[in-house]
Amino acid sequence: MSRFLSSKYRDLEAYTPGEQPRDMKYIKLNTNESPYPPSKRVIDALSSDEVMKLNLYSDPTAKELKARIAELYGVESENVFVSNGSDDILNFSFMAFCEGDKTAVSFPEISYGFYSVYAELHGVKANVIPLKDDFSIDPCDYMKNDSTVVIANPNAPTGIALGLDDIEGIVKSNPDHLVLVDEAYVDFGAQSAIELTQKYSNLLVVCTFSKSRSLAGARLGFAIASKEIIADLEKIKYSTNPYNINRLSLIAGEMAILDNGYYMDNCKRIVETREYTQNALRKLGFYVTDSKANFIFAKSDKIGGEELYLKLKARGILIRHFSKEKIKDYNRITVGTKAEMDSLISAITEILKEL
Ligand code: PMP
Repeated sequence: MSRFLSSKYRDLEAYTPGEQPRDMKYIKLNTNESPYPPSKRVIDALSSDEVMKLNLYSDPTAKELKARIAELYGVESENVFVSNGSDDILNFSFMAFCEGDKTAVSFPEISYGFYSVYAELHGVKANVIPLKDDFSIDPCDYMKNDSTVVIANPNAPTGIALGLDDIEGIVKSNPDHLVLVDEAYVDFGAQSAIELTQKYSNLLVVCTFSKSRSLAGARLGFAIASKEIIADLEKIKYSTNPYNINRLSLIAGEMAILDNGYYMDNCKRIVETREYTQNALRKLGFYVTDSKANFIFAKSDKIGGEELYLKLKARGILIRHFSKEKIKDYNRITVGTKAEMDSLISAITEILKEL
Protein backbone atom coordinates (compact mmCIF):
# COMPACT_ATOMS: atom_id res chain seq x y z
CA MET A 1 0.00 0.00 0.00
CA SER A 2 1.33 3.45 -0.85
CA ARG A 3 0.95 6.38 1.50
CA PHE A 4 -1.29 8.02 -1.12
CA LEU A 5 -4.20 5.61 -0.84
CA SER A 6 -7.35 7.28 0.42
CA SER A 7 -8.09 6.38 4.03
CA LYS A 8 -11.50 5.17 2.78
CA TYR A 9 -9.83 2.19 1.14
CA ARG A 10 -7.02 1.34 3.56
CA ASP A 11 -8.91 -1.52 5.22
CA LEU A 12 -10.79 -2.64 2.13
CA GLU A 13 -10.53 -6.38 1.59
CA ALA A 14 -10.56 -6.90 -2.16
CA TYR A 15 -12.34 -9.83 -3.83
CA THR A 16 -10.13 -12.84 -4.58
CA PRO A 17 -10.97 -14.22 -8.01
CA GLY A 18 -10.48 -17.92 -8.78
CA GLU A 19 -7.05 -18.88 -10.02
CA GLN A 20 -6.30 -18.34 -13.72
CA PRO A 21 -2.96 -20.18 -13.85
CA ARG A 22 -0.63 -19.86 -16.83
CA ASP A 23 2.09 -22.26 -15.62
CA MET A 24 0.57 -25.49 -16.92
CA LYS A 25 -2.56 -26.79 -18.57
CA TYR A 26 -5.17 -27.75 -16.01
CA ILE A 27 -8.62 -29.20 -16.38
CA LYS A 28 -10.17 -25.96 -15.25
CA LEU A 29 -13.23 -26.49 -13.08
CA ASN A 30 -12.74 -23.52 -10.75
CA THR A 31 -14.43 -20.40 -12.20
CA ASN A 32 -17.68 -21.65 -13.71
CA GLU A 33 -16.78 -20.90 -17.32
CA SER A 34 -18.51 -22.80 -20.11
CA PRO A 35 -16.53 -25.78 -21.42
CA TYR A 36 -17.93 -25.02 -24.88
CA PRO A 37 -16.59 -22.39 -27.30
CA PRO A 38 -18.63 -19.42 -28.53
CA SER A 39 -20.95 -20.21 -31.46
CA LYS A 40 -19.70 -20.10 -35.05
CA ARG A 41 -21.63 -16.90 -35.71
CA VAL A 42 -19.73 -15.17 -32.89
CA ILE A 43 -16.38 -16.42 -34.11
CA ASP A 44 -17.08 -15.47 -37.74
CA ALA A 45 -18.30 -12.00 -36.80
CA LEU A 46 -15.05 -11.16 -35.01
CA SER A 47 -13.36 -10.59 -38.36
CA SER A 48 -10.16 -8.73 -39.17
CA ASP A 49 -12.41 -5.99 -40.64
CA GLU A 50 -13.82 -5.44 -37.14
CA VAL A 51 -10.35 -5.53 -35.59
CA MET A 52 -9.33 -2.83 -38.10
CA LYS A 53 -11.98 -0.57 -36.58
CA LEU A 54 -10.48 -0.68 -33.10
CA ASN A 55 -9.06 2.81 -33.67
CA LEU A 56 -12.65 4.02 -33.22
CA TYR A 57 -14.59 4.14 -29.97
CA SER A 58 -17.40 1.66 -29.42
CA ASP A 59 -21.08 2.68 -29.43
CA PRO A 60 -21.75 4.07 -25.93
CA THR A 61 -25.49 3.42 -26.35
CA ALA A 62 -24.92 -0.26 -27.32
CA LYS A 63 -28.02 0.18 -29.46
CA GLU A 64 -27.84 -3.08 -31.43
CA LEU A 65 -26.96 -5.29 -28.49
CA LYS A 66 -29.72 -3.81 -26.33
CA ALA A 67 -32.23 -4.30 -29.17
CA ARG A 68 -31.26 -7.97 -29.52
CA ILE A 69 -31.54 -8.60 -25.75
CA ALA A 70 -34.86 -6.74 -25.58
CA GLU A 71 -36.23 -8.85 -28.44
CA LEU A 72 -35.16 -12.12 -26.82
CA TYR A 73 -36.70 -11.29 -23.45
CA GLY A 74 -39.82 -9.49 -24.72
CA VAL A 75 -39.02 -6.09 -23.21
CA GLU A 76 -38.13 -2.64 -24.63
CA SER A 77 -34.53 -1.49 -25.23
CA GLU A 78 -35.09 1.12 -22.49
CA ASN A 79 -35.51 -1.77 -20.04
CA VAL A 80 -32.03 -3.08 -20.83
CA PHE A 81 -28.64 -2.08 -19.44
CA VAL A 82 -25.36 -3.60 -20.64
CA SER A 83 -21.89 -3.38 -19.19
CA ASN A 84 -18.42 -4.81 -18.91
CA GLY A 85 -19.35 -8.04 -17.11
CA SER A 86 -22.14 -8.37 -14.57
CA ASP A 87 -19.64 -7.51 -11.82
CA ASP A 88 -19.66 -4.01 -13.30
CA ILE A 89 -23.46 -3.89 -13.06
CA LEU A 90 -23.41 -5.13 -9.46
CA ASN A 91 -20.86 -2.43 -8.62
CA PHE A 92 -23.00 0.27 -10.27
CA SER A 93 -26.07 -1.04 -8.44
CA PHE A 94 -24.41 -0.81 -5.03
CA MET A 95 -23.37 2.75 -5.95
CA ALA A 96 -26.81 3.69 -7.23
CA PHE A 97 -29.24 1.94 -4.90
CA CYS A 98 -27.53 1.77 -1.49
CA GLU A 99 -26.46 4.57 0.80
CA GLY A 100 -24.45 4.31 4.02
CA ASP A 101 -26.75 3.16 6.81
CA LYS A 102 -29.69 5.08 5.36
CA THR A 103 -30.24 2.47 2.64
CA ALA A 104 -28.43 -0.62 3.85
CA VAL A 105 -28.12 -3.79 1.80
CA SER A 106 -29.24 -7.31 2.81
CA PHE A 107 -27.71 -10.41 1.28
CA PRO A 108 -27.06 -14.01 2.35
CA GLU A 109 -24.01 -14.81 4.47
CA ILE A 110 -22.99 -17.58 2.07
CA SER A 111 -23.27 -16.09 -1.41
CA TYR A 112 -21.22 -14.35 -4.08
CA GLY A 113 -18.17 -12.91 -2.31
CA PHE A 114 -18.31 -9.65 -4.22
CA TYR A 115 -21.48 -8.43 -2.42
CA SER A 116 -19.62 -7.74 0.82
CA VAL A 117 -16.71 -6.19 -1.10
CA TYR A 118 -19.02 -3.74 -2.91
CA ALA A 119 -20.79 -2.90 0.35
CA GLU A 120 -17.43 -2.06 1.93
CA LEU A 121 -16.15 -0.24 -1.16
CA HIS A 122 -19.16 2.07 -1.14
CA GLY A 123 -19.45 2.39 2.64
CA VAL A 124 -22.84 0.68 2.75
CA LYS A 125 -24.14 -0.99 5.90
CA ALA A 126 -24.56 -4.70 5.19
CA ASN A 127 -27.17 -6.96 6.83
CA VAL A 128 -25.57 -10.33 6.32
CA ILE A 129 -28.27 -12.98 6.73
CA PRO A 130 -27.39 -16.62 7.54
CA LEU A 131 -28.72 -19.38 5.32
CA LYS A 132 -30.91 -22.13 6.76
CA ASP A 133 -29.05 -25.26 7.97
CA ASP A 134 -29.64 -26.96 4.61
CA PHE A 135 -27.97 -23.96 2.89
CA SER A 136 -31.22 -22.71 1.39
CA ILE A 137 -32.38 -19.09 1.58
CA ASP A 138 -35.43 -18.38 3.75
CA PRO A 139 -37.42 -15.84 1.69
CA CYS A 140 -39.04 -14.50 4.90
CA ASP A 141 -35.63 -13.16 5.97
CA TYR A 142 -35.74 -10.73 3.05
CA MET A 143 -39.27 -9.44 3.49
CA LYS A 144 -39.72 -5.96 4.90
CA ASN A 145 -36.24 -5.56 6.31
CA ASP A 146 -36.02 -1.94 5.18
CA SER A 147 -33.01 -2.23 2.88
CA THR A 148 -31.94 -2.95 -0.66
CA VAL A 149 -31.99 -6.73 -1.19
CA VAL A 150 -29.42 -8.65 -3.22
CA ILE A 151 -29.98 -12.34 -3.92
CA ALA A 152 -28.21 -14.65 -6.33
CA ASN A 153 -30.67 -17.11 -7.85
CA PRO A 154 -29.44 -19.82 -8.06
CA ASN A 155 -27.24 -18.93 -5.12
CA ALA A 156 -23.48 -19.36 -5.37
CA PRO A 157 -21.58 -21.39 -4.31
CA THR A 158 -24.43 -23.59 -3.07
CA GLY A 159 -26.25 -23.80 -6.44
CA ILE A 160 -29.60 -23.90 -4.61
CA ALA A 161 -32.41 -21.94 -6.29
CA LEU A 162 -35.51 -20.18 -5.02
CA GLY A 163 -38.75 -20.58 -6.98
CA LEU A 164 -40.31 -17.66 -8.81
CA ASP A 165 -43.10 -17.43 -6.20
CA ASP A 166 -40.54 -16.90 -3.46
CA ILE A 167 -38.73 -14.23 -5.51
CA GLU A 168 -42.05 -12.52 -6.21
CA GLY A 169 -42.90 -12.65 -2.49
CA ILE A 170 -39.64 -10.85 -1.67
CA VAL A 171 -40.18 -8.23 -4.39
CA LYS A 172 -43.81 -7.65 -3.35
CA SER A 173 -42.96 -7.23 0.31
CA ASN A 174 -40.33 -4.56 -0.42
CA PRO A 175 -42.26 -2.00 -2.50
CA ASP A 176 -40.06 0.86 -1.33
CA HIS A 177 -36.73 -0.90 -1.81
CA LEU A 178 -34.89 -2.23 -4.78
CA VAL A 179 -34.55 -6.00 -5.05
CA LEU A 180 -31.64 -7.14 -7.18
CA VAL A 181 -31.73 -10.74 -8.40
CA ASP A 182 -28.37 -11.89 -9.71
CA GLU A 183 -29.18 -14.52 -12.34
CA ALA A 184 -25.62 -15.37 -13.40
CA TYR A 185 -26.50 -19.10 -13.35
CA VAL A 186 -30.22 -19.05 -14.13
CA ASP A 187 -30.00 -20.80 -17.52
CA PHE A 188 -28.92 -24.07 -15.89
CA GLY A 189 -32.27 -24.93 -14.35
CA ALA A 190 -33.74 -22.08 -12.28
CA GLN A 191 -36.66 -19.80 -13.14
CA SER A 192 -35.84 -16.31 -14.33
CA ALA A 193 -37.56 -13.32 -12.72
CA ILE A 194 -37.19 -11.22 -15.89
CA GLU A 195 -40.94 -11.44 -16.63
CA LEU A 196 -41.64 -9.92 -13.20
CA THR A 197 -39.78 -6.73 -14.17
CA GLN A 198 -42.88 -5.83 -16.24
CA LYS A 199 -45.01 -6.00 -13.11
CA TYR A 200 -42.77 -4.62 -10.35
CA SER A 201 -40.94 -1.30 -10.56
CA ASN A 202 -38.52 -2.26 -7.74
CA LEU A 203 -37.00 -5.35 -9.39
CA LEU A 204 -33.61 -5.40 -11.11
CA VAL A 205 -32.48 -8.66 -12.73
CA VAL A 206 -28.76 -8.93 -13.49
CA CYS A 207 -27.46 -11.51 -15.99
CA THR A 208 -24.18 -12.41 -17.64
CA PHE A 209 -22.79 -13.72 -20.93
CA SER A 210 -19.95 -15.37 -18.96
CA LYS A 211 -21.58 -18.68 -18.05
CA SER A 212 -24.32 -20.01 -20.34
CA ARG A 213 -23.14 -17.93 -23.32
CA SER A 214 -19.45 -18.89 -23.36
CA LEU A 215 -18.17 -15.29 -23.28
CA ALA A 216 -16.41 -14.93 -19.91
CA GLY A 217 -13.37 -13.48 -21.64
CA ALA A 218 -15.43 -10.90 -23.54
CA ARG A 219 -16.68 -9.39 -20.24
CA LEU A 220 -20.33 -8.76 -20.95
CA GLY A 221 -23.26 -8.49 -18.58
CA PHE A 222 -26.81 -7.19 -18.91
CA ALA A 223 -29.63 -6.15 -16.64
CA ILE A 224 -33.38 -5.81 -17.09
CA ALA A 225 -35.64 -3.53 -15.05
CA SER A 226 -38.02 -0.57 -15.27
CA LYS A 227 -36.95 2.31 -17.55
CA GLU A 228 -36.31 4.43 -14.46
CA ILE A 229 -33.93 1.93 -12.83
CA ILE A 230 -32.10 1.48 -16.13
CA ALA A 231 -31.80 5.27 -16.49
CA ASP A 232 -30.18 5.39 -13.03
CA LEU A 233 -27.62 2.78 -14.07
CA GLU A 234 -26.95 4.73 -17.30
CA LYS A 235 -26.30 7.83 -15.20
CA ILE A 236 -23.63 5.99 -13.20
CA LYS A 237 -22.15 4.53 -16.38
CA TYR A 238 -21.94 7.93 -18.10
CA SER A 239 -20.30 9.28 -14.95
CA THR A 240 -17.58 6.63 -14.94
CA ASN A 241 -16.92 5.08 -18.37
CA PRO A 242 -19.31 5.78 -21.27
CA TYR A 243 -17.51 3.36 -23.62
CA ASN A 244 -17.86 0.56 -21.10
CA ILE A 245 -18.03 -2.24 -23.67
CA ASN A 246 -15.41 -2.65 -26.36
CA ARG A 247 -16.36 -2.97 -30.04
CA LEU A 248 -15.58 -6.69 -30.31
CA SER A 249 -17.56 -7.66 -27.23
CA LEU A 250 -20.58 -5.72 -28.49
CA ILE A 251 -20.52 -7.75 -31.69
CA ALA A 252 -19.90 -11.03 -29.85
CA GLY A 253 -22.89 -10.32 -27.60
CA GLU A 254 -25.23 -9.53 -30.51
CA MET A 255 -24.29 -12.70 -32.32
CA ALA A 256 -24.58 -14.81 -29.16
CA ILE A 257 -28.15 -13.60 -28.66
CA LEU A 258 -28.98 -14.44 -32.28
CA ASP A 259 -27.55 -17.93 -31.71
CA ASN A 260 -29.55 -18.49 -28.53
CA GLY A 261 -30.47 -22.05 -29.54
CA TYR A 262 -26.82 -23.14 -29.62
CA TYR A 263 -26.25 -21.87 -26.09
CA MET A 264 -29.47 -23.32 -24.68
CA ASP A 265 -28.49 -26.72 -26.15
CA ASN A 266 -25.14 -26.41 -24.39
CA CYS A 267 -26.96 -25.64 -21.15
CA LYS A 268 -28.94 -28.88 -21.54
CA ARG A 269 -25.69 -30.80 -22.01
CA ILE A 270 -24.21 -29.15 -18.95
CA VAL A 271 -27.28 -30.01 -16.87
CA GLU A 272 -27.02 -33.66 -18.00
CA THR A 273 -23.32 -33.73 -17.16
CA ARG A 274 -24.06 -32.11 -13.78
CA GLU A 275 -26.57 -34.83 -12.90
CA TYR A 276 -24.18 -37.55 -14.12
CA THR A 277 -21.30 -36.18 -12.06
CA GLN A 278 -23.42 -35.63 -8.96
CA ASN A 279 -24.55 -39.27 -9.10
CA ALA A 280 -20.96 -40.45 -9.47
CA LEU A 281 -19.88 -38.30 -6.52
CA ARG A 282 -22.76 -39.61 -4.39
CA LYS A 283 -21.59 -43.16 -5.18
CA LEU A 284 -18.16 -42.13 -3.87
CA GLY A 285 -19.82 -41.07 -0.60
CA PHE A 286 -20.08 -37.33 -1.24
CA TYR A 287 -22.95 -35.15 -0.11
CA VAL A 288 -23.99 -32.76 -2.89
CA THR A 289 -26.48 -29.90 -2.75
CA ASP A 290 -29.41 -29.69 -5.20
CA SER A 291 -27.54 -27.46 -7.64
CA LYS A 292 -29.41 -25.68 -10.41
CA ALA A 293 -26.21 -24.04 -11.63
CA ASN A 294 -23.26 -25.05 -13.82
CA PHE A 295 -21.34 -26.14 -10.75
CA ILE A 296 -21.57 -28.78 -8.06
CA PHE A 297 -21.15 -28.06 -4.36
CA ALA A 298 -19.91 -31.18 -2.62
CA LYS A 299 -18.29 -32.49 0.54
CA SER A 300 -16.97 -35.83 1.67
CA ASP A 301 -16.63 -37.26 5.19
CA LYS A 302 -13.45 -38.98 4.07
CA ILE A 303 -11.43 -35.96 2.99
CA GLY A 304 -11.44 -32.26 3.88
CA GLY A 305 -12.31 -29.62 1.27
CA GLU A 306 -8.85 -28.05 1.18
CA GLU A 307 -7.05 -31.40 1.05
CA LEU A 308 -9.14 -32.56 -1.89
CA TYR A 309 -8.58 -29.25 -3.69
CA LEU A 310 -4.78 -29.52 -3.22
CA LYS A 311 -4.63 -33.20 -4.24
CA LEU A 312 -6.66 -32.55 -7.39
CA LYS A 313 -4.50 -29.53 -8.24
CA ALA A 314 -1.40 -31.72 -7.98
CA ARG A 315 -3.06 -33.99 -10.54
CA GLY A 316 -3.79 -31.09 -12.91
CA ILE A 317 -7.44 -30.51 -11.99
CA LEU A 318 -8.49 -27.15 -10.56
CA ILE A 319 -11.61 -26.80 -8.45
CA ARG A 320 -12.59 -24.00 -6.03
CA HIS A 321 -12.20 -24.18 -2.27
CA PHE A 322 -13.40 -21.41 0.04
CA SER A 323 -11.84 -21.06 3.48
CA LYS A 324 -14.97 -19.53 5.06
CA GLU A 325 -15.68 -21.57 8.20
CA LYS A 326 -19.23 -22.68 7.36
CA ILE A 327 -18.30 -24.05 3.93
CA LYS A 328 -14.68 -25.07 4.39
CA ASP A 329 -15.55 -28.79 4.12
CA TYR A 330 -17.02 -28.22 0.67
CA ASN A 331 -15.66 -27.66 -2.81
CA ARG A 332 -17.29 -25.96 -5.74
CA ILE A 333 -16.71 -27.86 -8.96
CA THR A 334 -17.59 -26.33 -12.34
CA VAL A 335 -19.37 -28.71 -14.70
CA GLY A 336 -17.08 -29.24 -17.68
CA THR A 337 -17.41 -31.68 -20.57
CA LYS A 338 -18.31 -35.29 -19.80
CA ALA A 339 -14.69 -36.28 -20.54
CA GLU A 340 -13.40 -33.68 -18.06
CA MET A 341 -15.81 -34.90 -15.40
CA ASP A 342 -14.74 -38.51 -16.02
CA SER A 343 -11.13 -37.42 -15.40
CA LEU A 344 -12.27 -35.70 -12.21
CA ILE A 345 -14.16 -38.78 -11.00
CA SER A 346 -11.15 -41.07 -11.74
CA ALA A 347 -8.81 -38.70 -9.91
CA ILE A 348 -11.10 -38.50 -6.87
CA THR A 349 -11.48 -42.29 -6.84
CA GLU A 350 -7.68 -42.66 -6.77
CA ILE A 351 -7.27 -39.99 -4.10
CA LEU A 352 -9.82 -41.68 -1.84
CA LYS A 353 -8.10 -45.08 -2.32
CA GLU A 354 -4.77 -43.59 -1.29
CA LEU A 355 -6.08 -42.23 2.03
N1 PMP B 1 -22.68 -13.10 -10.02
C1 PMP B 1 -22.31 -14.31 -9.59
C2 PMP B 1 -23.18 -15.03 -8.60
C3 PMP B 1 -21.11 -14.89 -10.04
O1 PMP B 1 -20.70 -16.08 -9.60
C4 PMP B 1 -20.32 -14.18 -10.99
C5 PMP B 1 -19.06 -14.78 -11.54
N2 PMP B 1 -17.98 -14.82 -10.73
C6 PMP B 1 -20.75 -12.90 -11.37
C7 PMP B 1 -21.94 -12.41 -10.89
C8 PMP B 1 -19.93 -12.05 -12.28
O2 PMP B 1 -19.81 -12.54 -13.56
P1 PMP B 1 -19.27 -11.65 -14.77
O3 PMP B 1 -18.68 -10.38 -14.21
O4 PMP B 1 -18.29 -12.51 -15.46
O5 PMP B 1 -20.48 -11.34 -15.60
